[in-house]
Amino acid sequence: MAKKMLYLDHNATTPLRPKARTAMMAAFDFAGNASAPHRLGREARRLIDQARAILLQSLNADARAVCVFTSGATEANNMVLRGSGVEQIFVSAIEHPSVLRAAPDARVLPVTAAGVIDLEALEQALKTIDRSTLISVMMVNNETGVIQPIAEVVTLARRYGALVHTDAVQAYGRMPIDLQALGVDYITLSSHKIGGPQGAGAIIMANCVSVAPLILGGSQEKGLRSGTENVAAISGFGAAIQAALEAEQNLSVLRDRIEAALPDACFFGREAPRIGNTTLFAVPGVPSENLLLALDLEGICVSNGSACASGTVRSSHVLAAMGVDPALAQGAVRISLGWDTTDHDIDLFIDSWRRVYGRISQRLREKA
Ligand code: PMP
Repeated sequence: MAKKMLYLDHNATTPLRPKARTAMMAAFDFAGNASAPHRLGREARRLIDQARAILLQSLNADARAVCVFTSGATEANNMVLRGSGVEQIFVSAIEHPSVLRAAPDARVLPVTAAGVIDLEALEQALKTIDRSTLISVMMVNNETGVIQPIAEVVTLARRYGALVHTDAVQAYGRMPIDLQALGVDYITLSSHKIGGPQGAGAIIMANCVSVAPLILGGSQEKGLRSGTENVAAISGFGAAIQAALEAEQNLSVLRDRIEAALPDACFFGREAPRIGNTTLFAVPGVPSENLLLALDLEGICVSNGSACASGTVRSSHVLAAMGVDPALAQGAVRISLGWDTTDHDIDLFIDSWRRVYGRISQRLREKA
C-alpha cells in the first residue's frame, strides 16, 4: 500500500471534511435540477438555499446581503473586479492573481516589509480620487498568512467614498468574520480551503451593492451567475463551514512548534499579526526545490509559495512586494496546517525535517 502522506499544504487546498462528504453524497443521490418545478427540483433548491443561509449566518451578514454561488474564488474575484461598475480600482501588491489579473489597470498599493498594506499610501491614494473607486485588499495573504487591517481599510474608504472588496479565502473558517461589524461591500470565498470540495465559491454583497454577471444564460443565482448550480459542491461547501465553525482550532500552537524547530530559518511576515495555520520561511543558501523534493520523498507535502504558481519556478510577487532579497525569496517554503493536522503530525514533520535538512546542509557545506 502507498505510504500515507503527511499533508501540510492546506492553503493550496484541504482534504474533504467528513461532514462535507456526507452532505455531498446525499445530494448525489438524486437528480434534481434546482430550477425544475417538481419535487426533486425543489429538494435541490432547498439544499442550495440551506447552504446560502449557512454562509450568510456564518458571516453575521444582515438580511439585505446577497450571496451568489460561483465555481470558486477565482470566478468570484473576477466578478467583483470586472463587474462592480466603478471607474477606478486600487489593489494591494500582494493580492492573489485572480484579483491582480482581473484588474490589470488597477493602481497597485505597496505593503510594508512585514507584508501589511501600507495604510498611509492608501490614504494618499484616496485623497486624489475624483471617480467612483473600489479598493480590493485580501483578508489574509495566502503565502505569508499575514492578516490585513480590513476594518481600517473600510474606515478610510468610507471617509473618501470608496467601495471595499476583500478576498477572504484564507481567512474564512480560520478566524471570525463579522460582515456587519466590518462593513465591507464585497467578500469572496472558496470552499476548498475549509474542507469543502474544489469548484465551489461565493461572492457576498452587502450594503446594497451589486455586480454585473460574467456568465449569461438561464439566469440562475438571480441572473448574476447563469448555469445549472453544482448542488453537491454547494451543499458540501455549507457543511464544511458549519463543521469548521463547530470545531474551532488553535493551530498557532502547532505552527509555533514547527517554527521553534527551524533555528536557521528566516520567517516572512512574522512581525505582523498572522493567521495561526501558516508559516513561510527560507533557509539562506538552501533552494526550496531541494527541500520540497526531499520532504516529498519523506511523504510530506509542503509548498514553495502559492499553489497557483506551482509547476513553474517563479519568484513570489508577495515577497518581492515586501522587499525580500530575491535570492532568499527563491528558498521560500510554505507550511500550512488545517483541520486534520495533529500534534503527532508535527512530531513527524520535525523528525523528517531534521533528517532532510541535516543531509542537505552537509552536502552544501561539502560543495562550498
Ligand atoms: N484567493 C486566494 C487568496 C487564494 O488563496 C485562492 C486559492 N489559491 C484563490 C483566491 C482562488 O480560489 P479558487 O481556487 O477557489 O479559485
